[in-house]
Amino acid sequence: MKIEELLAYAKSKGFFWPSAEIYGGASGLFDYGHLGALLKRRFESLWLSYFVDSSQDYHLIEGSNMLPEKPLVASGHSTRFNDVLVGCTKCKTYYRTDVLLSERKVSVSEGASPEEMDSLIERNGIKCPKCGSALGKSKTFNMMIGVSLGPEKADKGYLRPETAQSAYLNFFQEFNTLRKTLPLGLAIIGKAYRNEISPRQGLYRMRELTQAELQIFFDPESWKPEIGELSSRKFTVVAYADKKSQQLTAAEVAKMYGIPEFYAYHMALIDRFYTETIGVPKDRFRFLEKGGDEKAFYNKVHMDIEVDIESWGGFREVGGLHYRGDYDLTSHSKGSGQELAVTVDGKKVTPNVLELSFGVDRNVWMLLDVFYKKDEDRSVLTLPKALAPYQAAIFPLQKDGKLEELTGKIYNSVRRRFKTVTDYSGSIGRRYARMDDVGTPYCVTVDFKSVEEGSPEYGTVTVRNRDDKSQSRIKAEELSSFLAKAYAAE
Ligand SMILES: [Zn+2]
Repeated sequence: MKIEELLAYAKSKGFFWPSAEIYGGASGLFDYGHLGALLKRRFESLWLSYFVDSSQDYHLIEGSNMLPEKPLVASGHSTRFNDVLVGCTKCKTYYRTDVLLSERKVSVSEGASPEEMDSLIERNGIKCPKCGSALGKSKTFNMMIGVSLGPEKADKGYLRPETAQSAYLNFFQEFNTLRKTLPLGLAIIGKAYRNEISPRQGLYRMRELTQAELQIFFDPESWKPEIGELSSRKFTVVAYADKKSQQLTAAEVAKMYGIPEFYAYHMALIDRFYTETIGVPKDRFRFLEKGGDEKAFYNKVHMDIEVDIESWGGFREVGGLHYRGDYDLTSHSKGSGQELAVTVDGKKVTPNVLELSFGVDRNVWMLLDVFYKKDEDRSVLTLPKALAPYQAAIFPLQKDGKLEELTGKIYNSVRRRFKTVTDYSGSIGRRYARMDDVGTPYCVTVDFKSVEEGSPEYGTVTVRNRDDKSQSRIKAEELSSFLAKAYAAE
């Protein structure tokens, strides 16, 4: 699918579209519609149950979206959360200089200065893509979005640029409230805000985004997560140095890349989430090692989590796994004056942080890209059942009082446990097609045999399976337990 096709599909079915669209939309802001909100929520629940509920040491918290200035000075965001932008001298359109360069296949290192980028622009004769005029001088631009807190001489604040800071700011409180042990994981699903210079590609680069992040605080000398059955799992890693792609186990990655075992273990865990729990094909998932100046300076190890997304032109980042050392707690210790080193078993330690970070919006887009299939026969969203927005649909075969009555009765018997819809319009074939199109795994049909007293099929309904179109008859009263079994978490 192309970007425009995916956007059109998402809009026509009720997944997402630009905010304030009746006013022409707003760059980098999107609204989720009735199906998109459900899909997003299901992805978040799946993420939560897989990564957070798996351990009693991990907890979900919720931090405020606005923060005062001081913590963001301490974290380095005030000075370093920058992009380099360049404006057209004539039409005044602004571009991210590094994006402009990489679109022209000019390689530019992540930490390059505005002057270095300008000389690359000059050397390659790059002009304004919109009007062809000369570009001005590049300059750094801080991407945080400022807010005023309070009236008159208001205090300066910011919309948080990442959810991670809320976890670092709450570590000390939670450590002391909980059992004063490590590891301690704090997860946040929430909004982050970035004043992107040129938001684009649908949900890829947004000004308001949702992150799902787990920050694990641990003692680097003693943390050894139990790898168990994940030890034999092979996953794809692309090395920074030679860009070579290999299928390796966690132990092999740890050895070859010289990275800690706990890090490699989490790669296997993330691989299983994508390629097994969600069902992204193995060859469309990989880790991309970041090194040199591509890597944030505070990261000891940095791998992007990537999925091959056709509408975005290939492998794109949907998350990251970052070993951040003790940078975060050390910075906030200095900034706040609060000692954040803790004592565990008589030993003083400044916890290190392993960050599992996921862009929820990008993952929602990825799901539509990977699982929407169209051939001459039909179009179907083959989402894993756990992520399907609607869990079941119930139809009467035709317009008929008796059929409609039983349909309503069955609907009422399951709707509180399962997200269910009814549909009374159009042919049964068209109704199946509408449900295939939005990924509903089961369509339940009430036909004349269902209501014909004396018929062997009296009181039964057909259940049609989305994936193989097979149909089976079950007792209407057993539908709830049928769906419970189908949706039971593994
Ligand atoms: Zn221009």
